[in-house]
Amino acid sequence: MAVRKSHGHVVIIGGGGTGAAILHDLLLRGFTATLVERGELTSGTTGRHHGQLHSGARYAVGDREIARECMDEVRILQRIAPEAIEMNWGLFVALNEEDNAFAPEFIAACQESGIPATEVPVAQALQMEPQLNPAILRAVKVPDGTIDAWRLPLHFFATARANGGMIKTFTEVVGVIRTAGRVTGVRVLDHAAQNEYDIAADLVVSATGAWAGQIAALAGIALPVTPAPGTMVAVKKRLNNMVISQLHPAGDGDIVVPQRGLSIIGSTQWQTDDPDTVEVPAEDITYLTARAAQLIPAFASTPFHAAWTACRPLAGSSGSVEDGRKLSRDFLAIDHGTTDNTPGLISIIGGKATVLRAMGEQTVDMICHLFGISEGCVTATTPLMSHRGYYNPALAGERAPTGGAL
Ligand SMILES: Cc1cc2nc3c(=O)[nH]c(=O)nc-3n(C[C@H](O)[C@H](O)[C@H](O)COP(=O)(O)OP(=O)(O)OC[C@H]3O[C@@H](n4cnc5c(N)ncnc54)[C@H](O)[C@@H]3O)c2cc1C
Repeated sequence: MAVRKSHGHVVIIGGGGTGAAILHDLLLRGFTATLVERGELTSGTTGRHHGQLHSGARYAVGDREIARECMDEVRILQRIAPEAIEMNWGLFVALNEEDNAFAPEFIAACQESGIPATEVPVAQALQMEPQLNPAILRAVKVPDGTIDAWRLPLHFFATARANGGMIKTFTEVVGVIRTAGRVTGVRVLDHAAQNEYDIAADLVVSATGAWAGQIAALAGIALPVTPAPGTMVAVKKRLNNMVISQLHPAGDGDIVVPQRGLSIIGSTQWQTDDPDTVEVPAEDITYLTARAAQLIPAFASTPFHAAWTACRPLAGSSGSVEDGRKLSRDFLAIDHGTTDNTPGLISIIGGKATVLRAMGEQTVDMICHLFGISEGCVTATTPLMSHRGYYNPALAGERAPTGGAL
Protein backbone atom coordinates (compact mmCIF):
# COMPACT_ATOMS: atom_id res chain seq x y z
CA MET A 1 0.00 0.00 0.00
CA ALA A 2 1.39 3.42 -0.94
CA VAL A 3 2.23 5.56 2.08
CA ARG A 4 0.38 8.86 1.91
CA LYS A 5 2.29 12.03 2.70
CA SER A 6 0.86 13.73 5.79
CA HIS A 7 -0.73 17.15 5.39
CA GLY A 8 0.76 18.04 8.77
CA HIS A 9 0.85 17.08 12.45
CA VAL A 10 -2.06 18.15 14.65
CA VAL A 11 -2.06 17.92 18.44
CA ILE A 12 -5.50 17.53 20.03
CA ILE A 13 -5.91 18.38 23.70
CA GLY A 14 -8.72 16.47 25.44
CA GLY A 15 -9.67 12.79 25.36
CA GLY A 16 -13.46 13.12 25.46
CA GLY A 17 -15.89 12.38 22.66
CA THR A 18 -15.05 15.57 20.77
CA GLY A 19 -11.31 14.89 20.79
CA ALA A 20 -11.98 11.29 19.73
CA ALA A 21 -14.06 12.35 16.72
CA ILE A 22 -11.52 14.99 15.63
CA LEU A 23 -8.64 12.51 15.88
CA HIS A 24 -10.51 9.93 13.81
CA ASP A 25 -11.50 12.46 11.14
CA LEU A 26 -7.98 13.94 10.86
CA LEU A 27 -6.45 10.53 10.20
CA LEU A 28 -9.00 9.71 7.51
CA ARG A 29 -8.22 13.04 5.81
CA GLY A 30 -4.47 12.43 5.65
CA PHE A 31 -3.08 14.20 8.72
CA THR A 32 -0.87 12.75 11.42
CA ALA A 33 -2.22 13.45 14.88
CA THR A 34 -1.45 13.08 18.57
CA LEU A 35 -4.12 13.33 21.27
CA VAL A 36 -3.17 14.18 24.84
CA GLU A 37 -5.50 13.69 27.81
CA ARG A 38 -4.58 14.64 31.36
CA GLY A 39 -6.42 11.65 32.89
CA GLU A 40 -7.97 8.46 31.49
CA LEU A 41 -9.95 8.74 28.25
CA THR A 42 -13.52 10.03 28.80
CA SER A 43 -12.64 11.18 32.33
CA GLY A 44 -14.16 14.64 31.68
CA THR A 45 -17.81 15.35 30.87
CA THR A 46 -17.98 12.57 28.29
CA GLY A 47 -17.79 9.80 30.88
CA ARG A 48 -20.44 11.39 33.11
CA HIS A 49 -23.25 12.66 30.94
CA HIS A 50 -26.89 11.64 31.03
CA GLY A 51 -26.61 9.18 28.17
CA GLN A 52 -29.47 10.43 26.04
CA LEU A 53 -29.20 9.97 22.30
CA HIS A 54 -30.99 13.15 21.28
CA SER A 55 -33.37 12.86 18.35
CA GLY A 56 -33.44 16.67 18.53
CA ALA A 57 -37.06 16.78 19.74
CA ARG A 58 -35.97 18.59 22.92
CA TYR A 59 -34.53 21.42 20.82
CA ALA A 60 -37.00 21.55 17.92
CA VAL A 61 -39.24 24.37 19.14
CA GLY A 62 -36.25 26.58 19.97
CA ASP A 63 -33.96 25.76 17.05
CA ARG A 64 -34.91 23.62 14.05
CA GLU A 65 -31.32 23.47 12.79
CA ILE A 66 -29.94 21.95 15.99
CA ALA A 67 -32.86 19.53 16.04
CA ARG A 68 -32.29 18.51 12.42
CA GLU A 69 -28.59 18.00 13.07
CA CYS A 70 -29.33 15.71 16.03
CA MET A 71 -31.71 13.62 13.91
CA ASP A 72 -29.10 13.34 11.13
CA GLU A 73 -26.44 12.25 13.62
CA VAL A 74 -28.73 9.65 15.22
CA ARG A 75 -29.14 8.07 11.79
CA ILE A 76 -25.38 8.21 11.16
CA LEU A 77 -24.47 6.72 14.56
CA GLN A 78 -26.89 3.88 13.91
CA ARG A 79 -24.81 3.04 10.86
CA ILE A 80 -21.27 3.61 12.13
CA ALA A 81 -21.48 2.70 15.84
CA PRO A 82 -24.60 0.62 16.52
CA GLU A 83 -23.00 -1.22 19.45
CA ALA A 84 -22.81 2.02 21.41
CA ILE A 85 -26.44 3.02 21.15
CA GLU A 86 -29.75 1.53 22.19
CA MET A 87 -32.53 2.69 19.88
CA ASN A 88 -35.26 2.49 22.51
CA TRP A 89 -37.16 5.66 21.41
CA GLY A 90 -38.63 8.25 23.73
CA LEU A 91 -41.94 9.54 25.06
CA PHE A 92 -42.62 13.21 25.80
CA VAL A 93 -45.49 13.29 28.29
CA ALA A 94 -47.79 16.13 29.39
CA LEU A 95 -48.07 16.40 33.17
CA ASN A 96 -50.42 19.42 33.22
CA GLU A 97 -52.60 21.61 31.01
CA GLU A 98 -49.68 23.86 30.10
CA ASP A 99 -47.74 20.86 28.78
CA ASN A 100 -50.86 19.69 26.99
CA ALA A 101 -51.24 23.04 25.23
CA PHE A 102 -47.56 22.91 24.15
CA ALA A 103 -48.07 19.62 22.25
CA PRO A 104 -49.24 20.93 18.83
CA GLU A 105 -46.31 23.39 18.57
CA PHE A 106 -43.91 20.65 19.69
CA ILE A 107 -45.15 18.09 17.17
CA ALA A 108 -45.12 20.64 14.33
CA ALA A 109 -41.57 21.77 15.20
CA CYS A 110 -40.36 18.15 15.27
CA GLN A 111 -41.92 17.41 11.92
CA GLU A 112 -40.43 20.57 10.39
CA SER A 113 -37.05 19.37 11.68
CA GLY A 114 -37.41 15.95 10.05
CA ILE A 115 -38.07 14.18 13.37
CA PRO A 116 -40.87 11.59 13.15
CA ALA A 117 -42.92 12.64 16.21
CA THR A 118 -46.28 10.94 16.60
CA GLU A 119 -48.95 11.25 19.25
CA VAL A 120 -49.69 8.02 21.10
CA PRO A 121 -52.99 7.52 22.99
CA VAL A 122 -52.42 7.73 26.75
CA ALA A 123 -53.66 4.15 27.29
CA GLN A 124 -51.13 2.89 24.76
CA ALA A 125 -48.33 4.96 26.30
CA LEU A 126 -49.11 3.39 29.68
CA GLN A 127 -48.99 -0.05 28.11
CA MET A 128 -45.62 0.74 26.55
CA GLU A 129 -44.27 2.15 29.82
CA PRO A 130 -46.27 0.72 32.75
CA GLN A 131 -44.33 2.74 35.38
CA LEU A 132 -45.37 6.08 33.84
CA ASN A 133 -47.48 8.43 35.93
CA PRO A 134 -51.05 7.24 35.12
CA ALA A 135 -52.27 10.87 35.33
CA ILE A 136 -50.40 11.98 32.17
CA LEU A 137 -52.60 13.94 29.78
CA ARG A 138 -50.79 13.29 26.51
CA ALA A 139 -47.84 11.36 25.05
CA VAL A 140 -45.73 11.92 21.94
CA LYS A 141 -43.30 9.29 20.64
CA VAL A 142 -39.94 10.41 19.18
CA PRO A 143 -36.78 8.55 18.08
CA ASP A 144 -34.67 9.29 21.18
CA GLY A 145 -32.39 6.59 22.52
CA THR A 146 -29.64 5.73 24.97
CA ILE A 147 -25.92 6.20 24.38
CA ASP A 148 -23.27 4.17 26.12
CA ALA A 149 -21.15 7.16 27.12
CA TRP A 150 -17.87 5.20 27.19
CA ARG A 151 -18.35 2.87 24.26
CA LEU A 152 -19.21 5.56 21.74
CA PRO A 153 -15.91 7.47 22.01
CA LEU A 154 -13.97 4.21 22.34
CA HIS A 155 -15.23 3.20 18.87
CA PHE A 156 -13.59 6.39 17.57
CA PHE A 157 -10.40 5.94 19.62
CA ALA A 158 -9.98 2.29 18.59
CA THR A 159 -10.38 3.16 14.90
CA ALA A 160 -8.12 6.21 15.12
CA ARG A 161 -5.35 4.27 16.82
CA ALA A 162 -5.57 1.46 14.26
CA ASN A 163 -5.22 4.17 11.59
CA GLY A 164 -1.98 5.43 13.15
CA GLY A 165 -3.22 8.01 15.68
CA MET A 166 -1.08 8.55 18.77
CA ILE A 167 -3.00 8.68 22.08
CA LYS A 168 -1.24 9.76 25.27
CA THR A 169 -3.27 9.49 28.48
CA PHE A 170 -2.28 10.97 31.86
CA THR A 171 -0.46 13.61 29.83
CA GLU A 172 -1.48 17.13 30.79
CA VAL A 173 -0.88 20.25 28.74
CA VAL A 174 0.85 22.72 31.04
CA GLY A 175 2.02 25.22 28.42
CA VAL A 176 1.30 26.36 24.89
CA ILE A 177 4.42 27.03 22.81
CA ARG A 178 4.38 30.11 20.59
CA THR A 179 6.99 30.90 17.96
CA ALA A 180 6.83 34.35 16.35
CA GLY A 181 3.21 34.66 17.47
CA ARG A 182 2.11 31.30 16.08
CA VAL A 183 1.25 28.29 18.23
CA THR A 184 3.79 25.61 17.34
CA GLY A 185 3.24 22.97 20.01
CA VAL A 186 2.45 22.20 23.62
CA ARG A 187 4.41 21.53 26.78
CA VAL A 188 3.09 18.46 28.59
CA LEU A 189 3.50 16.85 31.99
CA ASP A 190 3.57 13.05 31.86
CA HIS A 191 1.91 12.16 35.17
CA ALA A 192 3.16 8.55 35.09
CA ALA A 193 6.84 9.33 34.41
CA GLN A 194 6.67 12.67 36.28
CA ASN A 195 8.55 14.52 33.56
CA GLU A 196 7.77 17.39 31.22
CA TYR A 197 8.50 17.56 27.51
CA ASP A 198 7.40 19.42 24.36
CA ILE A 199 5.32 18.13 21.45
CA ALA A 200 5.70 20.10 18.21
CA ALA A 201 2.62 20.67 16.07
CA ASP A 202 1.60 22.36 12.85
CA LEU A 203 -1.71 23.07 14.58
CA VAL A 204 -3.16 22.57 18.07
CA VAL A 205 -6.86 21.88 18.73
CA SER A 206 -8.29 22.39 22.19
CA ALA A 207 -11.18 19.95 22.64
CA THR A 208 -11.21 20.48 26.38
CA GLY A 209 -14.87 21.31 26.92
CA ALA A 210 -15.41 23.01 30.26
CA TRP A 211 -11.61 23.45 30.56
CA ALA A 212 -11.32 25.34 27.23
CA GLY A 213 -10.87 28.68 29.02
CA GLN A 214 -7.87 27.31 30.93
CA ILE A 215 -6.11 26.10 27.76
CA ALA A 216 -6.81 29.39 25.96
CA ALA A 217 -5.34 31.24 28.95
CA LEU A 218 -2.10 29.23 28.55
CA ALA A 219 -1.91 30.78 25.06
CA GLY A 220 -2.63 34.24 26.46
CA ILE A 221 -6.21 34.28 25.16
CA ALA A 222 -9.27 35.27 27.19
CA LEU A 223 -11.90 32.83 25.90
CA PRO A 224 -15.38 33.78 27.14
CA VAL A 225 -16.57 30.36 28.27
CA THR A 226 -18.20 29.50 31.58
CA PRO A 227 -18.18 26.00 33.10
CA ALA A 228 -21.78 25.04 33.93
CA PRO A 229 -22.20 21.90 36.04
CA GLY A 230 -25.38 19.87 36.23
CA THR A 231 -26.42 17.10 38.63
CA MET A 232 -27.87 13.70 37.72
CA VAL A 233 -29.35 11.06 40.06
CA ALA A 234 -29.55 7.31 39.33
CA VAL A 235 -31.65 4.63 41.01
CA LYS A 236 -30.95 0.92 40.93
CA LYS A 237 -33.58 -0.27 38.50
CA ARG A 238 -34.49 0.25 34.88
CA LEU A 239 -37.98 1.61 35.49
CA ASN A 240 -38.51 2.71 31.88
CA ASN A 241 -37.25 1.32 28.58
CA MET A 242 -37.87 4.47 26.56
CA VAL A 243 -36.41 7.89 27.37
CA ILE A 244 -39.18 9.72 29.27
CA SER A 245 -39.24 13.54 29.02
CA GLN A 246 -41.71 16.17 30.14
CA LEU A 247 -43.54 17.76 27.22
CA HIS A 248 -42.49 21.37 27.80
CA PRO A 249 -39.65 23.75 26.84
CA ALA A 250 -36.33 22.23 28.07
CA GLY A 251 -35.86 22.75 31.80
CA ASP A 252 -34.38 21.21 34.94
CA GLY A 253 -35.06 17.62 35.94
CA ASP A 254 -37.30 16.71 33.04
CA ILE A 255 -35.68 13.63 31.45
CA VAL A 256 -35.40 10.07 32.77
CA VAL A 257 -32.95 7.99 30.73
CA PRO A 258 -32.75 4.19 31.04
CA GLN A 259 -29.07 3.27 31.18
CA ARG A 260 -28.07 -0.41 31.55
CA GLY A 261 -29.85 -1.51 34.77
CA LEU A 262 -30.41 2.04 36.02
CA SER A 263 -32.80 4.95 35.58
CA ILE A 264 -31.18 8.39 35.53
CA ILE A 265 -32.94 11.72 36.07
CA GLY A 266 -31.24 14.91 34.93
CA SER A 267 -30.32 17.53 35.28
CA THR A 268 -29.88 20.82 37.07
CA GLN A 269 -27.57 23.58 35.89
CA TRP A 270 -25.55 26.33 37.53
CA GLN A 271 -22.27 28.13 36.87
CA THR A 272 -18.82 27.80 38.40
CA ASP A 273 -15.30 29.13 37.91
CA ASP A 274 -13.48 25.83 38.35
CA PRO A 275 -14.84 22.58 36.86
CA ASP A 276 -12.46 20.54 39.06
CA THR A 277 -13.94 21.51 42.42
CA VAL A 278 -17.65 20.91 41.83
CA GLU A 279 -19.63 19.00 44.46
CA VAL A 280 -23.16 17.62 44.28
CA PRO A 281 -25.54 19.98 46.10
CA ALA A 282 -27.64 17.89 48.51
CA GLU A 283 -30.79 19.82 47.55
CA ASP A 284 -30.32 18.73 43.92
CA ILE A 285 -30.81 15.09 44.92
CA THR A 286 -34.08 15.87 46.70
CA TYR A 287 -35.28 18.10 43.87
CA LEU A 288 -34.39 15.70 41.04
CA THR A 289 -35.88 12.69 42.82
CA ALA A 290 -39.15 14.58 43.26
CA ARG A 291 -39.13 15.68 39.62
CA ALA A 292 -38.48 12.10 38.45
CA ALA A 293 -41.38 10.87 40.57
CA GLN A 294 -43.73 13.22 38.70
CA LEU A 295 -42.87 11.33 35.52
CA ILE A 296 -42.35 7.88 37.05
CA PRO A 297 -43.77 7.62 40.60
CA ALA A 298 -41.76 4.48 41.48
CA PHE A 299 -38.51 6.45 41.09
CA ALA A 300 -38.92 7.88 44.62
CA SER A 301 -39.11 4.44 46.27
CA THR A 302 -36.39 2.73 44.21
CA PRO A 303 -33.00 2.32 45.96
CA PHE A 304 -30.62 5.20 45.33
CA HIS A 305 -27.58 4.30 43.22
CA ALA A 306 -25.54 7.51 42.74
CA ALA A 307 -25.60 11.25 42.22
CA TRP A 308 -22.88 13.05 40.28
CA THR A 309 -22.20 16.16 38.23
CA ALA A 310 -20.86 16.87 34.76
CA CYS A 311 -19.78 20.24 33.40
CA ARG A 312 -20.82 21.98 30.18
CA PRO A 313 -18.89 24.82 28.61
CA LEU A 314 -21.36 27.68 28.12
CA ALA A 315 -20.43 30.37 25.63
CA GLY A 316 -20.20 33.71 27.47
CA SER A 317 -18.15 34.95 30.40
CA SER A 318 -19.15 34.26 33.98
CA GLY A 319 -21.88 36.68 35.08
CA SER A 320 -22.89 37.56 31.51
CA VAL A 321 -24.61 34.21 31.00
CA GLU A 322 -28.16 35.10 31.91
CA ASP A 323 -29.99 31.84 31.57
CA GLY A 324 -28.00 28.80 30.58
CA ARG A 325 -31.13 26.95 29.49
CA LYS A 326 -31.83 29.51 26.78
CA LEU A 327 -28.33 29.30 25.35
CA SER A 328 -27.83 27.20 22.28
CA ARG A 329 -26.56 23.68 22.85
CA ASP A 330 -24.87 23.86 19.48
CA PHE A 331 -21.13 24.02 19.06
CA LEU A 332 -18.58 26.49 17.83
CA ALA A 333 -15.11 25.94 16.34
CA ILE A 334 -13.00 29.06 16.90
CA ASP A 335 -9.87 29.79 14.86
CA HIS A 336 -7.78 31.91 17.23
CA GLY A 337 -5.75 33.13 14.25
CA THR A 338 -8.84 35.05 13.18
CA THR A 339 -10.29 36.02 16.55
CA ASP A 340 -7.17 36.59 18.71
CA ASN A 341 -4.27 37.02 16.32
CA THR A 342 -2.95 33.64 17.48
CA PRO A 343 -2.70 31.35 14.44
CA GLY A 344 -2.10 27.66 14.98
CA LEU A 345 -4.75 27.21 17.69
CA ILE A 346 -8.40 26.19 17.39
CA SER A 347 -10.88 25.75 20.26
CA ILE A 348 -14.06 23.73 19.88
CA ILE A 349 -16.70 24.34 22.50
CA GLY A 350 -20.31 23.41 23.17
CA GLY A 351 -22.29 20.64 21.52
CA LYS A 352 -23.60 17.34 22.76
CA ALA A 353 -22.32 13.77 22.88
CA THR A 354 -24.93 12.91 20.24
CA VAL A 355 -23.30 15.23 17.69
CA LEU A 356 -19.64 14.39 18.43
CA ARG A 357 -19.03 13.21 14.86
CA ALA A 358 -20.43 16.43 13.40
CA MET A 359 -18.23 18.44 15.78
CA GLY A 360 -15.23 16.51 14.47
CA GLU A 361 -16.30 17.13 10.88
CA GLN A 362 -16.72 20.89 11.33
CA THR A 363 -13.40 21.22 13.15
CA VAL A 364 -11.47 19.24 10.54
CA ASP A 365 -13.20 21.19 7.74
CA MET A 366 -11.77 24.32 9.37
CA ILE A 367 -8.31 22.72 9.63
CA CYS A 368 -8.38 21.69 5.95
CA HIS A 369 -9.37 25.23 5.03
CA LEU A 370 -6.47 26.66 7.07
CA PHE A 371 -4.04 24.22 5.41
CA GLY A 372 -5.46 25.07 1.99
CA ILE A 373 -6.39 21.51 1.14
CA SER A 374 -9.64 19.99 -0.05
CA GLU A 375 -10.22 16.58 1.54
CA GLY A 376 -13.87 15.71 2.04
CA CYS A 377 -15.14 14.21 5.29
CA VAL A 378 -15.97 10.49 5.13
CA THR A 379 -16.73 9.77 8.77
CA ALA A 380 -20.49 9.63 8.19
CA THR A 381 -20.07 6.62 5.95
CA THR A 382 -17.07 4.88 7.53
CA PRO A 383 -18.09 2.16 10.01
CA LEU A 384 -16.06 2.32 13.21
CA MET A 385 -14.12 -0.54 14.72
CA SER A 386 -15.42 -2.26 17.81
CA HIS A 387 -14.99 -0.36 21.08
CA ARG A 388 -13.39 -3.58 22.38
CA GLY A 389 -10.44 -2.94 20.10
CA TYR A 390 -9.26 -0.02 22.18
CA TYR A 391 -8.23 -2.02 25.23
CA ASN A 392 -7.65 -5.28 23.36
CA PRO A 393 -5.74 -4.48 20.14
CA ALA A 394 -6.26 -8.08 18.99
CA LEU A 395 -9.88 -7.08 18.39
CA ALA A 396 -9.08 -3.75 16.71
CA GLY A 397 -9.81 -5.18 13.28
CA GLU A 398 -13.32 -6.19 14.31
CA ARG A 399 -15.77 -3.75 12.75
CA ALA A 400 -18.99 -2.76 14.43
CA PRO A 401 -21.95 -4.57 12.85
CA THR A 402 -24.09 -2.23 10.79
CA GLY A 403 -27.48 -1.47 12.35
CA GLY A 404 -30.77 -1.24 10.48
CA ALA A 405 -31.84 2.11 9.11
CA LEU A 406 -34.10 4.28 11.21
C1 LIG B 1 -25.23 17.41 33.02
C2 LIG B 1 -24.98 17.09 31.59
C3 LIG B 1 -25.76 16.14 30.94
C4 LIG B 1 -25.54 15.88 29.60
N1 LIG B 1 -26.32 14.93 28.98
C5 LIG B 1 -26.14 14.67 27.68
C6 LIG B 1 -26.94 13.70 27.04
O1 LIG B 1 -27.80 13.06 27.65
N2 LIG B 1 -26.75 13.49 25.72
C7 LIG B 1 -25.83 14.19 25.01
O2 LIG B 1 -25.74 13.97 23.79
N3 LIG B 1 -25.01 15.10 25.59
C8 LIG B 1 -25.15 15.35 26.90
N4 LIG B 1 -24.36 16.26 27.53
C9 LIG B 1 -23.33 16.94 26.74
C10 LIG B 1 -22.09 16.05 26.59
O3 LIG B 1 -21.78 15.42 27.80
C11 LIG B 1 -20.91 16.89 26.16
O4 LIG B 1 -21.26 17.66 25.04
C12 LIG B 1 -19.71 16.05 25.78
O5 LIG B 1 -19.47 15.02 26.69
C13 LIG B 1 -18.49 16.95 25.71
O6 LIG B 1 -17.38 16.18 25.30
P1 LIG B 1 -16.00 16.90 25.12
O7 LIG B 1 -15.07 15.89 24.57
O8 LIG B 1 -16.18 18.16 24.35
O9 LIG B 1 -15.58 17.36 26.59
P2 LIG B 1 -14.96 16.44 27.77
O10 LIG B 1 -15.50 15.07 27.77
O11 LIG B 1 -15.10 17.22 29.04
O12 LIG B 1 -13.43 16.32 27.38
C14 LIG B 1 -12.49 17.33 27.66
C15 LIG B 1 -11.25 16.63 28.16
O13 LIG B 1 -10.17 17.57 28.24
C16 LIG B 1 -9.33 17.11 29.27
N5 LIG B 1 -8.43 18.19 29.66
C17 LIG B 1 -8.74 19.34 30.31
N6 LIG B 1 -7.63 20.07 30.52
C18 LIG B 1 -6.60 19.37 29.98
C19 LIG B 1 -5.20 19.60 29.88
N7 LIG B 1 -4.63 20.70 30.42
N8 LIG B 1 -4.41 18.69 29.26
C20 LIG B 1 -4.97 17.55 28.73
N9 LIG B 1 -6.29 17.28 28.81
C21 LIG B 1 -7.10 18.18 29.42
C22 LIG B 1 -10.31 16.70 30.37
O14 LIG B 1 -9.71 15.83 31.30
C23 LIG B 1 -11.42 16.05 29.57
O15 LIG B 1 -11.29 14.64 29.50
C24 LIG B 1 -24.53 16.54 28.88
C25 LIG B 1 -23.71 17.47 29.54
C26 LIG B 1 -23.93 17.74 30.88
C27 LIG B 1 -23.07 18.74 31.55
